[in-house]
Amino acid sequence: MDPGTSSPPSAAGATQAEGSPPQSGDKLAVFWNEGMLAHDAGRGVFDSGRDPGFLDVLDQHPENADRVRNMVSILRRGPIAPFLSWHSGSPAHATELHSFHSAEYIEELVQANAAGATKLCEGTFLNPGSWGAALLAAGTTLDAMRHILDGQGNLAYALVRPPGHHAQPDRADGYCFLNNAGLAVQLALDSGRTKVAVVDIDVHYGNGTAEGFYHTDNVLTISLHMWHGSWGPSHPRSGAVDEIGEGKGLGYNLNIPLPNGSGDAGYEYAMDRLVVPAIDKFQPQLLVFVIGQDSSAFDPNGRQCLTMDGYRKIGKIMRSMANRHCNGQILIVQEGGYHISYSAYCLHATLEGVLDLQAPLLDDPIAYYPEDEKYTMKVVDMIKNCWNESVPLLKDI
Ligand SMILES: [Zn+2]
Repeated sequence: MDPGTSSPPSAAGATQAEGSPPQSGDKLAVFWNEGMLAHDAGRGVFDSGRDPGFLDVLDQHPENADRVRNMVSILRRGPIAPFLSWHSGSPAHATELHSFHSAEYIEELVQANAAGATKLCEGTFLNPGSWGAALLAAGTTLDAMRHILDGQGNLAYALVRPPGHHAQPDRADGYCFLNNAGLAVQLALDSGRTKVAVVDIDVHYGNGTAEGFYHTDNVLTISLHMWHGSWGPSHPRSGAVDEIGEGKGLGYNLNIPLPNGSGDAGYEYAMDRLVVPAIDKFQPQLLVFVIGQDSSAFDPNGRQCLTMDGYRKIGKIMRSMANRHCNGQILIVQEGGYHISYSAYCLHATLEGVLDLQAPLLDDPIAYYPEDEKYTMKVVDMIKNCWNESVPLLKDI
């Protein structure tokens, strides 16, 4: 970024910015549509939808509109605002969904929507308003990808919900109906790109995206996640190290299950030792950065203890890989992140990293957890040895 004299507007907790906002073409393009707020997964004991009858106050489902309202407002009114441009997302057409999902599954969703409130699997509720929001999330992500493919800008962020990375070609899972990132990757392939890499840092395994590209070597899917294993019939793959793809795709799905509490240092070690060498070998033409703030220290749904510093660092690493291999092109896709305020802060920090800003724009309001990175580093080294032995592309990293 060119040094300049003007600074973004001040905000509570904001630190000094180091440069002037970029020209419009170099801004990070945020794709959003408030129609996605219409999805309401209801209330219950956490994400179960159940009322045991003896609690006066039930939780709002963790995947609720408020978490995303804060993401929108911190980007509009936080110190990162001058570095962003805003674009309205549009709904996907049903036929566009067939590039990733089976026609039978899409028909199943259409019928479920027509039937009214439907629980599709554990924690995953298709209520009135949900299907319209899901079509907007998919279409908005496709719009963000088109922005990059059409050469209108290198950096685009699809701020979408309901999330998508658990949705498989023929089934819903983990709050997800349509695989927004998977649809965007398929659009890039259909537009002539032959090598796309997906790096997923949501705290859960990006099993749906992995499933969609499990048999191809055109897409390298990498997921860093909490070691949670399978959580039932809707989530058959567990995210283990030995799930490395099949057929032509053998070696093109890389799972990095990390121990609880891995923290900023553990994640940075995993990025440097595992993700960067794999991306350098694969040499993608485009990066898809799948983000979830449920890997933060305060998330009710995760145990990974990342703070704003960790997210900022990961964002910077992604940007440097995109600069090295992809002419700086990164599509960022929003997934989970359930702490109502801290998720927004962590998103802000991630985008600061992707923008490669030298000094933090915003202080961390609550981070204080100590880390136990030594155990994580041992696990990362074990995964690396495993890749050396079983993934031909990575035998000498
Ligand atoms: Zn998640």
